[in-house]
Amino acid sequence: MPLWEENIRKVVPYTPGEQPKEANIIKLNTNENPYPPSPAVQAAVAGIPDADLRKYPDPAAAELVNALAARYGRKPSEVFVGVGSDDVLAMCFLTFFNNREKPVLFPDITYSFYDVWADLFRIPYETVPLDDAFRIRPEQYERENGGIVFPNPNAPTGRAMALADAERIIASSPGSVVIVDEAYVDFGAESAAGLIPKYDNLLVVQTFSKSRSLAGERIGFAFGNESLIRYLNDCKYSFNSYTMNRTAIAAGTAALKDEKWFREKVGKVIATRGRAEKEFAALGFRFYPSVSNFLFVTHPAKPAAEIFKELRERHIYVRYFAKPRIDNYLRITIGTDEEMDALFAALREILA
Ligand SMILES: *Cc1c(COP(=O)(O)O)cnc(C)c1O
Repeated sequence: MPLWEENIRKVVPYTPGEQPKEANIIKLNTNENPYPPSPAVQAAVAGIPDADLRKYPDPAAAELVNALAARYGRKPSEVFVGVGSDDVLAMCFLTFFNNREKPVLFPDITYSFYDVWADLFRIPYETVPLDDAFRIRPEQYERENGGIVFPNPNAPTGRAMALADAERIIASSPGSVVIVDEAYVDFGAESAAGLIPKYDNLLVVQTFSKSRSLAGERIGFAFGNESLIRYLNDCKYSFNSYTMNRTAIAAGTAALKDEKWFREKVGKVIATRGRAEKEFAALGFRFYPSVSNFLFVTHPAKPAAEIFKELRERHIYVRYFAKPRIDNYLRITIGTDEEMDALFAALREILA
């Protein structure tokens, strides 16, 4: 081992879902939206004057922050933006989870980036088990902690908790920041953002990657009281002032202004999800109802790892996690109706 290796920050990185290069695949593995973003997005991006690219973007991304504030009825000082919610969440871990003794709490089955950030930033953490029906148990969070983070709806389960349960968690830890990761909230869950005036320790994080079809632009945002947002910005400006590039600011702002497109596409995904639930049930799969843009399914007759492999051979990509409690499940993104038809045809063959 070279001498310098002792001084290296060693981390086990997050493994994102595959982004296969081949054409003609059906990609249901990373919860992207199957529909394109509003045409207004392309127009806005194309409209960026060439000469502007020479200059740094607005470090405050004020155009996007103001559009978010207007859309969601908040003050611009209550809005933070970042390079996807992954960047927003990483900044939150750095800023808010700064206690070296008390552990940060999150569910045992959840977004698999949380433990990676905790390790990266040397933050102690403990996981809190979901119940046997994959539900978050709010009472389990009523103990000493250095912060709490959970998605609602949870991933990869797709299960949402009632707002009253989320509120119980927020209310019971006034001494730490509670982050609600609402990456999938637009597909049918209730946002906690309305609780912000009531709880100064609440931060709500959302993204343009799923419901707004802009995973490729990397835009995430957070709502919280002014003081939390100021602390977040202080850390951000101490790390990289220009996180949001001109293209992302223009794309995000344009997407927000096309509310009709957004509602239509979210509505289509929800309708296809309803159809898909019936098809999965008919094929003998078991799953809980989902309020997200994916289903988390298991089959009593065939191991998930085998179904995963056989779907892949047919160029259909879904997500499999070789992890305790969920290693017999597949997380399947809701695609277009045509993509789902192809999936079900393949599954009928595989299960025959
Ligand atoms: C997809 C996802 C994110 C990150 O999305 P970005 O593309 O970085 O905005 C964050 N949390 C959860 C639970 C997700 O599923």
